[in-house]
Amino acid sequence: MQRTMCVRSRVQCVSWILTNAIRLGLFLFCLGNTAACLAAEPARVLLLIGADPSQPAVFVQIHGIRRALDAGLPGDAEVYLDSIDGFRFGDAHLAQEFLALLQKKYQGQHIDLVIVMGTHAADFALAYRTMIWPGTPVLFSSVTDSWVRQHALPPGIAVLPFPTDIGKTIAIAQALQPQARRLIVVGGVTDVDKEMVDRVVSTVSSERGRWTTVERWEGLGVDELQRRLAGLGKDDAVLYATIYRDRDGHRYFPYQLLQPMVRASRAPIYGWYSTYLDGGITAGGVYDLAENGVNTGKAAVAILKNGGKFTGVALPPMPVRCVANVTELERFGLSAANLPKDCELINLPPSIFHEYRGTMLAMLGVLLAQAVTIIALVTQRRRRCSAEAEATARGNELARAARFATAGELSASIAHEVGQPLGAILSNADAAELLVTSPHIDVEELQDILSDVKRDALRANDVVQRLRALLQKQSIVFAPIPLDATLKGSLPLLEPEARRRTIRIEAQFGAGDLEVMGDHVQLQQVLLNLAMNAMDAMHETAPEDRVLTLVTRQDGEGVEIVVADRGSGFLVGSAEQLFEPFYTTKPHGMGLGLSIVRSIVDAHHGHVDAALRSGGGAQIVVWLPLVQGRHRTAATAATADHAAAASAGEGSQRDEAHARRAPGAAGERFSS
Ligand code: ADP
Repeated sequence: MQRTMCVRSRVQCVSWILTNAIRLGLFLFCLGNTAACLAAEPARVLLLIGADPSQPAVFVQIHGIRRALDAGLPGDAEVYLDSIDGFRFGDAHLAQEFLALLQKKYQGQHIDLVIVMGTHAADFALAYRTMIWPGTPVLFSSVTDSWVRQHALPPGIAVLPFPTDIGKTIAIAQALQPQARRLIVVGGVTDVDKEMVDRVVSTVSSERGRWTTVERWEGLGVDELQRRLAGLGKDDAVLYATIYRDRDGHRYFPYQLLQPMVRASRAPIYGWYSTYLDGGITAGGVYDLAENGVNTGKAAVAILKNGGKFTGVALPPMPVRCVANVTELERFGLSAANLPKDCELINLPPSIFHEYRGTMLAMLGVLLAQAVTIIALVTQRRRRCSAEAEATARGNELARAARFATAGELSASIAHEVGQPLGAILSNADAAELLVTSPHIDVEELQDILSDVKRDALRANDVVQRLRALLQKQSIVFAPIPLDATLKGSLPLLEPEARRRTIRIEAQFGAGDLEVMGDHVQLQQVLLNLAMNAMDAMHETAPEDRVLTLVTRQDGEGVEIVVADRGSGFLVGSAEQLFEPFYTTKPHGMGLGLSIVRSIVDAHHGHVDAALRSGGGAQIVVWLPLVQGRHRTAATAATADHAAAASAGEGSQRDEAHARRAPGAAGERFSS
């Protein structure tokens, strides 16, 4: 015929040769590289399902197969599906019609692999596969091991094992309910239903377990089932096989009956299909049907990539896993501790965090914000404290520097004050020298001279010591100190300066033994600063009016120090300004004396005020709190005032005695 064609048309002949050469080339290429050919042509896979594909147990497997095919094949697989639904409709009486339908449907269609699921489909495929899909490899999945044992499978069929390990579910029931003696096996009336119940019963009896009673509840309708289940107790265990049909002819998918059963049952229900977990079974040795679908799909991919051959393709059996439903365990008071270690627990009560996530996150946020705020405040406080400590240290240094400045101002009078006793000592030494060289030594006179020398030396030493105490660097120590004694300690430094300036000091130390909590050097500095300012203010006052008044007295819970003068005073309304740092009206003033006084007084928890005096001059009043519990009543105050006056009198007498021995000093000194 070709010869005739070639004779008819040389062009047609060449075209025929080229077309067939290309076909031959493609065929040879495909022989050597199946995967590449699969990439070019989508694999055609037929799923022959024995049950209804919408049944969850079937649906999840189909979904798993599709997922594995899509993931494992280079191009999209074309998947066809035919369902026999033999569980509900039976298959034998429809087989011929179904065969005719499928033959017609797949005539001329190339199918790369047929996946057969379930025993109904397996029966059909075993009988008719070569009449519908001749030469096409067939993979059986979800076919019970007993079915496989009963059938001799010819080449061209591979089986993914689905061994039903009912014993594992029974063992789990025994572990959870060690006291249970009655086992109830629930099933339907279809062949598959009965076969399942048979298998359970034979498994239980072969295991020589401790069940004293094994009951078969087969073909019961929903109402009857619920009624019976409601009558069970904690010594009963229920194994649910399958109910595809009850004895009244009602058809079901097995999972559909589970929820009403679980609701009614007073005993735990066990099962072995993963889809039963959604129905609420208590536990079981469970086959994950979705996983079985994925494994089937993977095996299908391997077979297709292997050119449709089974050799070398892994066909692993379905694993069985212990799964327990915590909600049901709790309902029946069963302990999960009795389960195998690797048992998976589902329906765990949500953790507190899970349940109150929003609230807890909000609380965490608030706590976090609080923590951040607290840290910030603590840090801020620490910084403030260290800044305060720093400021205090600087303030103390400044105060000390100011004491040096005051000492500088006092230096002339202090030199004079020290020089005066030294001069007296010298005179007394001369007198003593003369006395010891005279033929008749007046021992009494000599003793007087020596005692004067000693007194003058002590006096000079006293001034030097007080100056040293004022100037030496020492840390500030707050302790209860007697105010009057402390302030009197600075008089030996003031008095010479007052004399030099022709100023009379009038002191009324009325605080007696009252104590304030303070540092004695700083309080002496307060008095020195105020007294020096007062003396400065009286620069232009007539000499006879130059009086510096120093008063201490109790005032409520505190004690007042008043330093008053008859000087120039200050501008009305500027009292507060005097205490500002660097405010000065003096040509060589620094403006720090009063601001240091205020900071010292503040540190002693007191206050200081300036006021103009009637009759001219100014007075500065310092108030300091007394040490708690150390203030006096009015009576004790009067006694103390008297003591102060007496003490002042003693001072005058001492000075007069001194004036007798050292006359040079007498005219320049003022009693205090
Ligand atoms: P400084 O003595 O170096 O001027 P102070 O801070 O001690 O610094 O005093 C500030 C100012 O307050 C003085 O310059 C003076 O004008 C005023 N002042 C202080 N004490 C008196 C006083 N007793 N009478 C009048 N003015 C005073």
